[in-house]
Amino acid sequence: MNTVDYLRISLIDRCNFRCTYCMPEGAEFDYIRSKEMLTNDELIQLLREVFIPLGFHKFRLTGGEPLLRKGLVDLVRAISSLPGTEDLAITTNAYLLEDMARPLYEAGLRRINISLDSLDRNVFREITGRDHWQKVWQGILAAHEVGFDPLKLNVVVIPGVNDREVLDLAALSIDRAWHVRFIEFMPIGNTELFAHKGWVDSATLRAKISDRFGLLESNCRGNGPADVFQIPDAKGTLGFISQMSECFCDRCNRVRLSADGWLRPCLLNESGQIDLKTSLRSGQDDVALRQQVRELLNLKAEINFKERDRGIKTSDQTYTRTMSQIGG
Ligand code: SAM
Ligand code: SF4
Repeated sequence: MNTVDYLRISLIDRCNFRCTYCMPEGAEFDYIRSKEMLTNDELIQLLREVFIPLGFHKFRLTGGEPLLRKGLVDLVRAISSLPGTEDLAITTNAYLLEDMARPLYEAGLRRINISLDSLDRNVFREITGRDHWQKVWQGILAAHEVGFDPLKLNVVVIPGVNDREVLDLAALSIDRAWHVRFIEFMPIGNTELFAHKGWVDSATLRAKISDRFGLLESNCRGNGPADVFQIPDAKGTLGFISQMSECFCDRCNRVRLSADGWLRPCLLNESGQIDLKTSLRSGQDDVALRQQVRELLNLKAEINFKERDRGIKTSDQTYTRTMSQIGG
């Protein structure tokens, strides 16, 4: 079992996009009220006094759309200055990135993942519900110019919608050190879309890319869920995240904190969550908070063992909460 040292932090459950697989247009969301959100000070306190002492040193800011969070640059500066922070990253749709890339970089952020499901403006609009391809592309170029490294592009492949673009998207890794990651579409959020369209497994994508460009296994594999490959002589890599066709619970090194302070041991398992915000606001001291998190980590180890031993794949289950609510 991996050591769990990676915390994904949802900063907000709202978003300025309406991706069909995440927050489809017209769906109603029960948004977290602002007084229920963890404040920047509470979040920093939890990181400094609870998570870092328990061995966490890798943090990712996500959402919803994290660039919508008020005071984000100050928050990034505060987290990146914590002595225990070794790795701070963000996942964003890049709509607001063109102007924010530099301030975020100067505040200490270095790693960025940007969602880009299509290179075609119309397909992009169909998926995200917004005609913002150009602005997102400008955001990606701004992040590149400023020097974010690694710069990863996340692609969720939806059959019949963007799967014909897989080769063009993979080719983005050739001339620049961009890391394109293909994510199997999960039955989280818009399960109707899932039932109707299905999903494309990573092995099929790899075969297609390999036929066109050749594909080598990369030695840049991190300890995350992606299997990493490379087009020969490309500057960047290709990652495949296969949570539908594989069970990678035994590689899992992360837990998730929602914008209203619930800590969740597993993306796909609804059990065992703890309400850290209420504990914090009711005056529990750091020792008690650490104990609660320790117990959750023990439970996580049990969940992961069980799921791995039963060979459970995501495809066997359905989920009601969207990635924007959980913090994808
Ligand atoms: N708004 C930011 C963004 O889109 O990058 C961050 C939050 S979003 C929930 C994080 C990632 O989750 C995105 O890359 C998105 O494509 C992915 N995602 C959302 N719903 C998904 C689903 N049902 N299956 C697979 N990936 C999903
Ligand atoms: Fe927003 Fe990201 Fe969800 Fe798309 S995937 S709706 S950009 S939170």
